[in-house]
Amino acid sequence: MTAIKEETLAAKIRSDFPILHQEVNGKPLIYLDSAATSQKPQIVLDTLRHYYDHDNANVHRGAHTLSIRSTEAYEGARDKVAKFINAQFREEIVFTRNATEAINLVAYSWALNHLKPGDEIISTVMEHHSNLVPWQIIATKTGAVIKYVGLTENEEFDLEQYKTLLSERTKLVAVVHVSNTLGCINPVEEIISLAHKMGAKVLIDACQSVPHLAIDVQKMGCDWLVASGHKMCAPTGIGFLYGKREILEAMPPFMGGGEMISEVFLENYTVGELPHKFEAGTPAIGEAIALGAAVDYLSAIGMDKLHDYEEELTAYLFKKLATIPQLRIYGPKPTPEGKGRAALASFNVEGIHASDLSTLLDHEGIAIRSGHHCTQPLHRLFNASGSARASLYFYNTREEIDAFVKALKETINFFNSVMD
Ligand SMILES: *Cc1c(COP(=O)(O)O)cnc(C)c1O
Repeated sequence: MTAIKEETLAAKIRSDFPILHQEVNGKPLIYLDSAATSQKPQIVLDTLRHYYDHDNANVHRGAHTLSIRSTEAYEGARDKVAKFINAQFREEIVFTRNATEAINLVAYSWALNHLKPGDEIISTVMEHHSNLVPWQIIATKTGAVIKYVGLTENEEFDLEQYKTLLSERTKLVAVVHVSNTLGCINPVEEIISLAHKMGAKVLIDACQSVPHLAIDVQKMGCDWLVASGHKMCAPTGIGFLYGKREILEAMPPFMGGGEMISEVFLENYTVGELPHKFEAGTPAIGEAIALGAAVDYLSAIGMDKLHDYEEELTAYLFKKLATIPQLRIYGPKPTPEGKGRAALASFNVEGIHASDLSTLLDHEGIAIRSGHHCTQPLHRLFNASGSARASLYFYNTREEIDAFVKALKETINFFNSVMD
């Protein structure tokens, strides 16, 4: 037992995360909310601090030393992100505030200018609101129609239904890679190749996959992919859009201002080069550089190794949760090896409000999320207003899962005794 414990990835890297070593409500913090935002390793915090202590200056066109250093570090972070997801060209990475902004960029720059009445967008019932509402806005403005792929019996992406929805009217497919509520891993390569056969473009919401899986955008074949830095060990305020170069080149700017232009006259302007034409205004320089440090940190661990460890945790979490028969867990079951789904579990207990569960667990120092997780349409399908969600990352341990499941059992027993 101790031998296994000492060998785990978490045992090796936990000391890198200062925030994890504290007591909350008199108990050691157990952080099980990484699907909402991940914690940050020391090197990322140090990188941010170092930038402001030593290099802070605005980027691009500054001839002084600090500006040159800032620009090099900022553009270096772009190279790191490009390499991390295996983009072919560095200018295919556009820094945004978060994934939501990246989706809106595609919605306003591409979809608003391309979609016509009767054109179809295909999405799914499991999408995060960030990958639903922008398309609803665009559909209203253009007269395009949104069709939604539903779930199979196992509560996964219904590939067969998707095939029946696809047609030459389909212009865009916007799908999540890994669901933040169901934890299912969607067959994005097949989804993309089927869409491309119909001439449709595909946007992948990779918020829950980039932090946990090795991503290769060239192999995947997506036209756009979005992710948020704060879910992958980086600060808030920085995310990115990946887009195929020829597609980004053909897209008009999303926002106007400094940085995105080539020349400005009183009558008009000329658009700057990629990727700057999509980065209007002073960007989140320090945060982008810190995202680069997060990418370095994750790469040094190795995404395959990280994912293997998360599979072990998934198997363990589901084995333990299976000892609580009252739980209704959403999404597919993992294999005994923990494969086939993400390291998170959204669930409900009949007769107990999810927010009451999370409040009582918080008294034990255990942080889980309760609510709709920005997937209200999905919860409505399950006739639930919300759910409780425990989500893991590579710094979590089996011991934490033990403590969580024990506290969850006690909480359920407490509520049952009160209700009797
Ligand atoms: C978190 C999340 C988003 C939105 O990310 P922001 O950082 O809030 O922009 C979108 N989709 C999924 C699947 C997510 O988990």
